Amino acid sequence: MHSQCDVCGLHYEREPGFFFGAMYISYAFSVAIFVAVGVALSFLGDFSLEVYLLTIIGVIALFLPFLFRYSRILFLHIFGGVDYEPGYKKKVSEVG
Ligand SMILES: [Zn+2]
Repeated sequence: MHSQCDVCGLHYEREPGFFFGAMYISYAFSVAIFVAVGVALSFLGDFSLEVYLLTIIGVIALFLPFLFRYSRILFLHIFGGVDYEPGYKKKVSEVG
C-alpha cells in the first residue's frame, strides 16, 4: 500500500496505528464470506466439517489481498475524514 496519494499528497495513515481499526472491518468481511460460503456449501451437498473448514479458509485466503485493501479504504473513508473529490487533479493543474 502506498503511504500517500500520488495526486494530492494525502498521507493515508492519519495518525500512528490508524489502520488497526481496519481489522474490525476486515473481520466483518471475513465473517460475511464465512457465512456465504458455508450456506452455499450446505445447499450444494452434504459435506463433512473438514470440507467446510478447508473451503472457507481457502476462499478467505484467496480474498485476503482484497480484504486488506478494501477494509483500509472503507476505514479511511468512514473514520479518516477523507472524501474523494473527482476534480481535484484538474484544479491543481489549473492553479500551477
Ligand atoms: Zn489524492
